[in-house]
Amino acid sequence: MAETRENTTVVIVGAGVAGLTLGNFLLRNGIDCVIVERRSRAYVEKRQRAGTIDARGVRMFREWGLGAVVEQDASPDIESGFWIDGVRHPMDLGEDARESIFCPQQVLVRNLTDTFLQGGGDLRFEAADVTLEGLRGERPTVRHRQADGSTLAVSCDFIAGCDGYRGVTRASVPAGALTRYSQEYRYSWLSVLAEVPANPSGMAIHSRGLAGMLPRGAHASRIYLQCPADEPLEQWPDERVWSELEARFATTVPTGPIVDKQLVPLRCVVHDPMSHGKLYLLGDAAHIVSPMSAKGIHLALHDAEVFARAVIEQARTGDTGLLDSYSETCLRHVWNYQAYAAWITEVMHNAGDASYEGEFRKRIARAELERQFTSPAASRLFFELSEGVN
Ligand SMILES: Cc1cc2nc3c(=O)[nH]c(=O)nc-3n(C[C@H](O)[C@H](O)[C@H](O)COP(=O)(O)OP(=O)(O)OC[C@H]3O[C@@H](n4cnc5c(N)ncnc54)[C@H](O)[C@@H]3O)c2cc1C
Repeated sequence: MAETRENTTVVIVGAGVAGLTLGNFLLRNGIDCVIVERRSRAYVEKRQRAGTIDARGVRMFREWGLGAVVEQDASPDIESGFWIDGVRHPMDLGEDARESIFCPQQVLVRNLTDTFLQGGGDLRFEAADVTLEGLRGERPTVRHRQADGSTLAVSCDFIAGCDGYRGVTRASVPAGALTRYSQEYRYSWLSVLAEVPANPSGMAIHSRGLAGMLPRGAHASRIYLQCPADEPLEQWPDERVWSELEARFATTVPTGPIVDKQLVPLRCVVHDPMSHGKLYLLGDAAHIVSPMSAKGIHLALHDAEVFARAVIEQARTGDTGLLDSYSETCLRHVWNYQAYAAWITEVMHNAGDASYEGEFRKRIARAELERQFTSPAASRLFFELSEGVN
């Protein structure tokens, strides 16, 4: 089958949050780029994950003239709380936290896709068998098989690996070139998507384990239930989901159709450096943050902004300084957030089911949480940690 050859400045592998944000930033600044995405447009725009864009992300989109991607279709945030053994504790995280916008991830992805395509962007869905070549050369190439079976080979100045944790870009780096740092927890989250309003809305700490019920629009919720890391999905029939949720929140919960159920292992991973030759890794391709922190989107957006500024600077002035320091800049930020994620993950889980870390750690974790609810200074520190303080 024939091979077509093309040239561009940046090939972006993956049309998730990181890839689409980067693509839009580059397009707006006159930098040529091509996005290649393995899945169909319909699939990508239906994939439900996160629900809220934090204050930094909202400010970033506004600064780049793209505020509409988070503002249009955004629903008002539903007030969430913390339940400890059935008692609700309100927590005010301050003015900045109130600037975050409730915008489900699939809505952000759809809006970013529309904006990119309306701006004349080049986005190839259903790009099969993506391979990378010449990462350490002058002009690397990204190849993929198109729907008609022909191959498209795009040569470029830089490749942005935005293809998530299991993508092809990081896997193309020779063994030993990156160091993987990771922390695995002995528990997972059963992650459930249900067509019921989030009521109650928030996180619950209970000796049976952590639970969460968070809004995904007015009529849908994401439910999380802590469970042992090795527990198979078959042990979670729908009835058990609802009865565990009620037990952990110690209140009645409305039931409804469950549309998705998966086990999410709790882990934190960082790859260092976040680049290799002309390949730059962004978002989940470079790092995974514990879902307890809800900061995966934040980190993906941060990487996209740092990399976009570096490419734009290089194109305008020839100065490669920001590209050279890309990995270092992002890793400093990533480790700050890993510190927050590790802390919040341990406190929230240790405060409940004592079978992992014991009764002593449970009491310490509860004392730490108590401080968040009673001390404005501690609550401010919690917020600053959640915002990275760097
Ligand atoms: C169930 C769940 C709930 C979550 N909840 C939250 C939350 O509440 N808050 C939060 O901040 N984060 C949350 N996250 C994490 C968040 O979704 C990720 O951190 C975020 O999606 C990372 O964005 P990304 O662009 O790096 O990767 P992705 O969004 O995963 O995008 C990667 C893209 O690359 C494509 N791709 C993969 N392989 C290839 C290939 N070989 N060739 C071409 N394309 C490829 C994929 O199809 C995908 O479109 C959650 C994750 C999950 C799984």
